[in-house]
Amino acid sequence: MAPRLHPSNQEARERVMLSHEELEKIREEREVMDTWRTYSRHVVAYLLEACAVCGMLREKVHLARCRWCEDTYICKEGVCAQQHQAELHPAVAFWTW
Ligand SMILES: [Zn+2]
Ligand SMILES: [Zn+2]
Repeated sequence: MAPRLHPSNQEARERVMLSHEELEKIREEREVMDTWRTYSRHVVAYLLEACAVCGMLREKVHLARCRWCEDTYICKEGVCAQQHQAELHPAVAFWTW
């Protein structure tokens, strides 16, 4: 993460001292930031998925979709896929692993 702590907050505080016009500008900027934050949260939700076994949030590229479950994502690396298969699909586990 950024080495400086909350540089924008500090900047905003300094600018509050200037004028009402500046204050309005800051308020607008903050609204834009809020909109962006809400938007990016959706993007993150779209890109990330939780592993059905360990519950870890990962990018979808690092997850494998179960062949037998609808909308079930499991870690590509590690033992999650094996564990999921052994627990939920013991009948097919022997020929896939
Ligand atoms: Zn996992
Ligand atoms: Zn499954």
